[in-house]
Amino acid sequence: MYETVLFKNIADPRVRAIDRYAELGGYRAAEMVVKERTPAEVIETTKATGLRGRGGAGFPTGLKWSFVPKDTGKPTYLCCNADESEPGTCKDRVIMERDPHQLIEGIIIASFAVDCHLAFIYIRGEFWYAYRVLEKALGEARAKGFLGKKIFGSNFDLDIVLHSGAGAYICGEETGLIESLEGKRGHPRQKPPFPAVQGLYGCPTVVNNVETLANLPHIFNRGAEWFKSIGSNPKNTGPKLYCMSGHLNKPAVVERELGIPLPELIYDICGGIPGGKKLKGVIPGGSSVPILTADEIDVRMDFDSLAAKGTLLGSAGCMVLDETVCMVRFAMRTARFYAEETCGQCSQCREGTWWMEQVLHRIEHGHGKMSDLDMILDMCSNMKGVTICVLSDACAMPVEAMINKFRAEFEYHITNKTCMVGAHAHA
Ligand code: SF4
Repeated sequence: MYETVLFKNIADPRVRAIDRYAELGGYRAAEMVVKERTPAEVIETTKATGLRGRGGAGFPTGLKWSFVPKDTGKPTYLCCNADESEPGTCKDRVIMERDPHQLIEGIIIASFAVDCHLAFIYIRGEFWYAYRVLEKALGEARAKGFLGKKIFGSNFDLDIVLHSGAGAYICGEETGLIESLEGKRGHPRQKPPFPAVQGLYGCPTVVNNVETLANLPHIFNRGAEWFKSIGSNPKNTGPKLYCMSGHLNKPAVVERELGIPLPELIYDICGGIPGGKKLKGVIPGGSSVPILTADEIDVRMDFDSLAAKGTLLGSAGCMVLDETVCMVRFAMRTARFYAEETCGQCSQCREGTWWMEQVLHRIEHGHGKMSDLDMILDMCSNMKGVTICVLSDACAMPVEAMINKFRAEFEYHITNKTCMVGAHAHA
């Protein structure tokens, strides 16, 4: 039986208030950390848990913190990436709207670990409700002395600035986020230098995702061994939020251990496919990852198991598609999203996403040529691993997998100028 951790209190509307959060044990971990631990101890404990970033890349959190140089004479900043905008992803929003102090407490612990005295929450512009909930929660934390000077009566000072984005997907990329925070266009930066060395305002900066940070109070209340006891293996540990959407009887944001078998999520927890329809495919990690066919879903939802299947856990935005989905239209809509969201700095991404959408559009509308398919695959290979950030890859990878795994459907569209699954027809 899975014991809920991150979502333990989200059904209690009173937990948004600091007194209720504290009554349930909240802020004990942060107070203990800032009064009784050293930053090095916090980093070592976090490393020992095996916690990996929940924003998409899955990089070990404690290791990321350890890259921050000390004694640079510059301030260190921590940025909470709350710009959740990967299609299919809606988990961080639940934490922010329902249990904001869990996030604030996590930020306090992470800030202490990297000697940060001013942290930022960069929140997606569309999340106006979560913004208001967080704004209120931050005010409560300041009033209690949990933020500000000498927090919890310790010698540690910390404040948190809440900053709303303006609705650009690319500002979820950590260096795009930093540029945007500095008041510029959200254009990702060339790396190196990495933000840990030269980030916000040229200073050492750590960027952590909301869900990653929300794990920290639990880790410091219950210990690294407890955290490691959850998950599919020592490299994939802890609780995980899965955003289950698409053709499901019970779509939901679900918390289970990292590495739960995908069929269990689809059939046991989310009630399977409505109307007795057949499963066609699953996109396990948000729109930017390669699709799994119905025959490939016997996999654990963790970083390494999905990588072994040629896809990614990403943001765990798990989209379930039934047999009525037209893969050509799905590919076109995916490419259109990235063509809209490219920042335009790299020609492979700026031109590639746009051309890909155009070619898929003509196939979808009955004007495609058989040679278009290999041309798109060629474009995909020229868009991967060659740009400043991975938005270009994020467009190429899913489209490439859709053509490779459902090629007959694309060919049917081209030959018959209509849809194999009968989703729509083009005379
Ligand atoms: Fe901008 Fe695309 Fe280049 Fe990323 S890959 S920096 S989004 S043009």
